[in-house]
Amino acid sequence: MAAAALVPAWAGLALVWAAVPGCGRGQDSGRGASPVSVEPREPPPLVERSARLSSGRTITGVLFDLGFSTSEAYAVVDAMRPVANPRRVRAGVVFSLKSEPAGGAPVILSAQLDADRTLVWIPWATAGPVAAAGNGSVGAAGRAQQFGAERLWIARIDSTAARHDTLVARAVIRDNLFEAEWMSGAGPLDRRSSIEVALGLEAVYGWQVDFWRDLREGDEIAVLAAVQIRPDGSYRRFSVLAAELTNRGRTLAAVRFVMGEVPRTEYFDEAGEALRGQFLRSPLEVSRITSAFNPSRYHPILRQVRPHRGVDYGAPRGTPVRATGAGTAVRAGNWRGYGLMVELRHPRNMRTRYAHLSRLGTGIGVGTVVEQGDVIGHVGDSGLATAPHLHYEFLRGGVHVDPSRLDLPRAEPVPDSLKAAFRADALPMLARLRYALRQMNRRFSWRRVQD
Ligand SMILES: [Zn+2]
Repeated sequence: MAAAALVPAWAGLALVWAAVPGCGRGQDSGRGASPVSVEPREPPPLVERSARLSSGRTITGVLFDLGFSTSEAYAVVDAMRPVANPRRVRAGVVFSLKSEPAGGAPVILSAQLDADRTLVWIPWATAGPVAAAGNGSVGAAGRAQQFGAERLWIARIDSTAARHDTLVARAVIRDNLFEAEWMSGAGPLDRRSSIEVALGLEAVYGWQVDFWRDLREGDEIAVLAAVQIRPDGSYRRFSVLAAELTNRGRTLAAVRFVMGEVPRTEYFDEAGEALRGQFLRSPLEVSRITSAFNPSRYHPILRQVRPHRGVDYGAPRGTPVRATGAGTAVRAGNWRGYGLMVELRHPRNMRTRYAHLSRLGTGIGVGTVVEQGDVIGHVGDSGLATAPHLHYEFLRGGVHVDPSRLDLPRAEPVPDSLKAAFRADALPMLARLRYALRQMNRRFSWRRVQD
């Protein structure tokens, strides 16, 4: 709600109110200088009514609920057209009307369209006199008259102000990151936004540490993030500038570096080694291993000891399966007990297999070139499978290896030509994080960092 928009309305209201003989003694002065009252008085509060746009209803219907006449409602909807499409207003949006007390004139109408935009209408004047005011208002006033509305309404969009802040937080892991203390919603970021930042950290460290399996009680994670925060504590945008994770006694620093002619954000450790790997740790976005790599496993369908040369991930049918690394499809179809499967060939003589699929990804066939993260298929139970799951194999030099234990090769480090820029732009963020942490003592929730 725009305070500025309220000012003229409030001023006008105060004037009207002061002119009313409210204390029983007549006043003939309309100027608002009241000799009756010596104490400053607050104007009576505006009356607020609100109505929700439910699905299938029109804005006009909501305005009727708020007491608008047909002509007035049409004038209001017409006024919003230059700034917002009336048909695009989502169901659930609440329209709120503030009026002068006791059935008085409307003062302001507003509707928060989304987290960042509020539509505000102000009754500008009666339609008649304003029609002569000139320029832009003539057309609207003319239309207001056409609808027979009493007032001319002016609409505009108010943007939610978001503050730019640099925040620091530290968490000691209890069970998993999402139960850490900084997730409580204390501090400038609300709980949901804190979780989003945690997911951002998972994206930074995901190649090195599996946040769902590798974190242990007592591990610590600290983050320095640039955040645009709305007044309600939600974020509009955030970027992890630097982070430090202590996992089972090993400390992993991460620092953001924007590089390249087409700017690309990558995370590196202090030495300039990439955190991103040549391979994702898991082909599924949220992964749960249901059967590990095991050279002497008893097979439930074949009823005999059969080595399990891959890792099984439990997931519902249809879950997207991602290429863990960039490569070329050398198989894409049904193959023996694998059922419907995809095999990818990667640089450095490595291959990955994705089996028991329900269907292939769009455009995937033998010879298709894929990037890391591309969806190559969907989880199913084709071939020798008792229930939908993904069977994932990793072959290095033609030999099956356990992908969950593999020390996966990393992506390219900071190029020599950019090392100076990396030291000047990126590394100071890590120093800033460590400095901020020293100021925090044992407080774990979000804190602002002074520039
Ligand atoms: Zn398997």
